[in-house]
Amino acid sequence: MNNMTSENYFERAKQVAPGGVHSPVRSFAGLGRSPVFFKSAQGAYLTSVEGKKYIDCCQSFGPLILGHRDPEVQSKVMEMIDTAWTFGACEPYSLMLGEWIQKKVPWVEKLRFVSSGTEAVMSALRVARAATGRTKILKFEGCYHGHVDSLLVKAGSGLAGVTASSSAGVSEQTASETLTVSLDDEKALEAVFAREGKNIAALIMEPLPANYGLLIQRKEFIQKACALAKANGALVIFDEVISGFRVALGGMAEVLGIKPDLATYGKILGGGFPVGCYGGRRDLMDLIAPLGQVYQAGTLSANPVGMVAGLATLEKMERENGYQVLEKRGQLLENKVNDVIKNLNLPLNFVRYGSLFWLHTKTADGSPIRQVEQIAPTQKETFKKLFLNSLDRGLYLAPNAYEVGFLSLAHTEDVINDMVKIMGESLA
Ligand SMILES: *Cc1c(COP(=O)(O)O)cnc(C)c1O
Repeated sequence: MNNMTSENYFERAKQVAPGGVHSPVRSFAGLGRSPVFFKSAQGAYLTSVEGKKYIDCCQSFGPLILGHRDPEVQSKVMEMIDTAWTFGACEPYSLMLGEWIQKKVPWVEKLRFVSSGTEAVMSALRVARAATGRTKILKFEGCYHGHVDSLLVKAGSGLAGVTASSSAGVSEQTASETLTVSLDDEKALEAVFAREGKNIAALIMEPLPANYGLLIQRKEFIQKACALAKANGALVIFDEVISGFRVALGGMAEVLGIKPDLATYGKILGGGFPVGCYGGRRDLMDLIAPLGQVYQAGTLSANPVGMVAGLATLEKMERENGYQVLEKRGQLLENKVNDVIKNLNLPLNFVRYGSLFWLHTKTADGSPIRQVEQIAPTQKETFKKLFLNSLDRGLYLAPNAYEVGFLSLAHTEDVINDMVKIMGESLA
């Protein structure tokens, strides 16, 4: 067992799970090598089964805003594990986290905890359909909302760069309930509302699209989209599974000053444990069982270990001015990577929003990328070279050209300097 390499494990894993993985992006598909198997993690670092240490800029795809195994979070988790693992009954731990969210994110008037971002989105759609009596959902191309059947249409994340417009196994009937429109295209949005407005239960969006690269939207576009939805009697759902508690305590809704009717959360909210949440207007949330007729349940929902991990994470972020610190570190990374790009005269652009970042092939006129179609076809090849060279040198980027990178509070200035050195050598 001790002499097993990542390759050995991967050969065995392929006999157990499809493609050897339990979530597709982990497989290093298209990157020309087999995935690294990790045995442990601490702070900004991962350690492979071979004992090699990597700076981790994936951070489990976002949940670990304090880094791996933050000592404060860990002590709360250990205390909880010594107390109870799951009750399947009422307990005060979810109440503490729920009240904390209500206080800090006031448009979440009521909420329900679930076990993943996908589950949160799926449930929010059910509420939207029940509340409006309509069936259709409008989403943006390239936005990822988990693997809910109806939203695997023109999605991002593991489907980014895939040519088919959705997943096999999603019925045409289900897919037909989803309307898609390009990001940053007001005319197309107006047209779809003019045509289908009366049938649209909800407009769902990532207010900071971060699952098909980082496609930062113009505030006016998001405002316009929300106004159109409202004028047509459709609900606005902000999918803040990635941006919630990442860009600010109140997520992009706080940054933009827009109150969605419903919002979905996950990732950071569980501090590294499986937690999702949906919430928003009280009248909408009161439609859910046992108060209302919308059924939604979960054996392990509001799992106490995830609840205390989430609360400890958020309290620490607030106490340590975490968002300001991350902005400062992000700015440092941005400045230094931009120096590298300039010095090497590379046709690349570094995009950043707080602690989220993405490196992409520059557009012909250097304009920012806001739509999937604007991403250059060379993105995959460019990323592959950067990824493999960085990996050799001890930097683990999310293994896909369309996934963003994440900084955590454990990414100190020293760690960022090491990252830049590795990225500089790899880009050269
Ligand atoms: C990650 C993500 C999801 C899905 O969450 P899971 O916990 O992976 O099911 C949904 N929406 C967005 C915006 C995400 O980033």
